[in-house]
Amino acid sequence: MPSLDELRAELAPMLEEVAAKLLGDKLSRAKGLLVEKPRPDRRLALPRPRTVNIYVAIEALSELVIRHEGRDDFVEFEVAGYRVPGILNTKVQAAERRALLRLLYDFYDRNLNGAVARLADAVKELGLQGAERIAEKLRGGGWRCYLAPKQGRRQGEETVEAYCGFCPGCMIYGYAGMDEGGGYNVKSRVEGDVFYGLCASSRCVVQRTFNAVNDATKTTFYEEGETGALYTLSLIEPGTVFVGKIAVRDPSLAELLAVLLAVSNVERIGARQTHFGRVKTHIPAIVFSRFERGTGYEAAARMLREKSGGPLGLEEALQGLTGYAETVATSDDLLIASRGLADELRRLSLRDIDAVLAAAWLDSLVFKASIEQFIAAPRRG
Ligand SMILES: [Zn+2]
Repeated sequence: MPSLDELRAELAPMLEEVAAKLLGDKLSRAKGLLVEKPRPDRRLALPRPRTVNIYVAIEALSELVIRHEGRDDFVEFEVAGYRVPGILNTKVQAAERRALLRLLYDFYDRNLNGAVARLADAVKELGLQGAERIAEKLRGGGWRCYLAPKQGRRQGEETVEAYCGFCPGCMIYGYAGMDEGGGYNVKSRVEGDVFYGLCASSRCVVQRTFNAVNDATKTTFYEEGETGALYTLSLIEPGTVFVGKIAVRDPSLAELLAVLLAVSNVERIGARQTHFGRVKTHIPAIVFSRFERGTGYEAAARMLREKSGGPLGLEEALQGLTGYAETVATSDDLLIASRGLADELRRLSLRDIDAVLAAAWLDSLVFKASIEQFIAAPRRG
């Protein structure tokens, strides 16, 4: 049997077992609203109506500094007539991707002679562009995936070392191609907008002044013209809950579980993470559908209106999200409301996590091969 099918057959029952633990008796219906990726197929490169809507609550466990581009320490949005702090999805998604990479590095190191070697065989069998190089990198323990500036060939020139282009992080969250990864770009299949705080800023954002001591004089004295010794930060208070929705497009079962693992393993968000930013994520509701169902904005507006600008606690946020998800799911959709899901994901054993990541990596390689087939012959029947 070719190694691809053999690996697939080995991973399938393990993946099934993990998925059944998490999704229970709704698993078989959920599968009908996901995309199977057994073999490369150029049609898999095309978008299809398969969207998993994941409702997420982010609970601040310490003070947060949510800075975005610009001068302010936090960004405000108006929801249902209240000014509330918000976190843009770019921040949340970057944290998800880092969480996924952390899991992948660990998986990679522990399975170098097992699943990783088998994935390297699959790369060759799939005939991916640069298959030899990719397989060698995987097999030799040299796989890394990050975006980093590096010294160019000419002096003073700075180039960017691109993401690897062939791991589940790249094939799910996207990457800019450049030379590596086949010379094409892959768009993120995880989409989202803003996570809204369930509390008017006036009630959950505090201004705090810190001093930066001059190390030479051990005082706050700085010479004229130098930066002042005092600085002020706007901090979002612990206990503040943010709600939002992310949409995952065309995932396989393993890819979806990888995203859920990433979301539930986000541990810090925002700036100055050495001192601030500890969070805990919750996934109270998932709507499997053909389309995007609902928005974080509507969910937040509903809750803020009911509680006159909050603050809403975690319990109210989880109930509010589940209640909202019920109103947007149609009879053709599948709603899974399981408030402990993120905790269960955080408690998965290494064996279970390995099963998910190996299967997700295999699906990612098949998806990549499908894209390359499509690029080679976009108009073929
Ligand atoms: Zn990668």
